[in-house]
Amino acid sequence: MPLTIAPCRQLCDWVRTPGSYDGQPLLACRGCGSQWVRSEPWTPAQADGSRPYAVLEELRRPASPSSPSG
Ligand SMILES: [Zn+2]
Repeated sequence: MPLTIAPCRQLCDWVRTPGSYDGQPLLACRGCGSQWVRSEPWTPAQADGSRPYAVLEELRRPASPSSPSG
């Protein structure tokens, strides 16, 4: 299934979700309903234009194959 990507407005507030997509943690915008994973070529922005903390946290995570072994 494709990710939902909607035009962001001034409501955007990105958070981690319990779900995953393509084996990666799925983030979603509570404002417009867009979804994002780190493999996407774009980077979400908060309503004020800043990078969401949840997104920065995800991008800073080492790109490991899916075995959190420590
Ligand atoms: Zn949004």
